[in-house]
Amino acid sequence: MQILAVHGGLDTSRERSFMDDLEAAVRKGFQMLATGRVPALEAVLNVLEDSPRFNCGFGSVLNLDGKVEMDAAIVDGPTHRFAAVAAIRAVANPVSVARKLLEETKQVILAGEGAVKFAREHGFPEADCTSRQQLEAWHKAKDSLARGKTPAQNLYTGLEYHGDTVGCLVWDGQGLTAASTTGGYSLKLPGRVGDTPSLGGGIYASRTSATVCTGLGEAFIETLTAKYVDEQIAAGAHPQEAVEAALRRLAGLKGAEGGIMALDARGRIGAAFNAGRFPVVVLVNGEVRKDFQPVNLRPELATTPAR
Ligand code: ASP
Repeated sequence: MQILAVHGGLDTSRERSFMDDLEAAVRKGFQMLATGRVPALEAVLNVLEDSPRFNCGFGSVLNLDGKVEMDAAIVDGPTHRFAAVAAIRAVANPVSVARKLLEETKQVILAGEGAVKFAREHGFPEADCTSRQQLEAWHKAKDSLARGKTPAQNLYTGLEYHGDTVGCLVWDGQGLTAASTTGGYSLKLPGRVGDTPSLGGGIYASRTSATVCTGLGEAFIETLTAKYVDEQIAAGAHPQEAVEAALRRLAGLKGAEGGIMALDARGRIGAAFNAGRFPVVVLVNGEVRKDFQPVNLRPELATTPAR
C-alpha cells in the first residue's frame, strides 16, 4: 500500500481552488514515489510553496518588519534522518533546501543567513516570496497597530480566509516520512522560529508513525506534541485517537488551537483540529479517499465548507 496525505494548514479555506491545489500536489507526489519517499514529499510541498494560496513559499505571511521568513523540515522515520531550515529568506522552495541539507550534509538545522548562503551555494536563486495579498494585509495590520487596535487578520493565515502552514506524510510500503513548510505566523518577530523545524514539537517520524502539526508553533514546541502522538501510537492507539488525545492535551496545557495529521506503519491515518477549518487530502494507491475528513473537536467553530 502507498499513502500520501497532505494538509493545507489551520484555518485554511476549503474553497474548491484550495482543495484542487492540495489534490494536484498529492498527485504530483504520487508520480514521484517511484524515486523515493523524500522526493515525493518534496514534490507535494513544492506545488503548495509555488501557490499563493498557502502560508509557505510564495504566499507566506509577513513578519513584523514586513519580510518573509520561512521554516521547512523533513524527517524520515526508518533512517532517523532529519533536516530543516529556519528563518530562511528569499528562496522559492525552502523544503527543497531542507532536502539538500538532508542528502548532502550531516548537519540538521541551518538558520537565517547561513541557510540562505547554503541555498545559494547549492543553486537556489534569489526569489521574492512576498505576495500582493500578504503585503496588503501587512499594511492594514500595521495601520491597525499604529492606531492602537488589534489587527483583524487571522494569525495563522495572515488574511481573513486564506492558507496556512502545509504538511505532508508518506507511507511507501517501506517506511514513513514527514515534511512541513511554512511562513510561520503573521507579524512574528524577525528571526522567530516556529515548530516546523522543531523535531518532536511540530513534526516527527519513526518506524512507528509520522506526524505533522499546524497551529501556534510555540505551544507545539513546549509540549512536544508531535512526539506525544508517536508515543501514543507506539503504545497501541489508532492514529485518530492519538491526534485527538494530543489536541486535547495541547488545549489543556496551553489553551492552544491546532491541526494534527498522523499516519502509522499499518497505513492507518488520523487527522483532527480544534479551530475553524483544516483541509486534508489523502491519496491511497493513487486514489483520493473521498470518505476521509479530519475530525473537528470544536464543531462550534466550524465555518461553512465553502470558506
Ligand atoms: N506552526 C506554524 C508556526 O508557528 C504556523 C502554523 O502552522 O499556523 O510557525
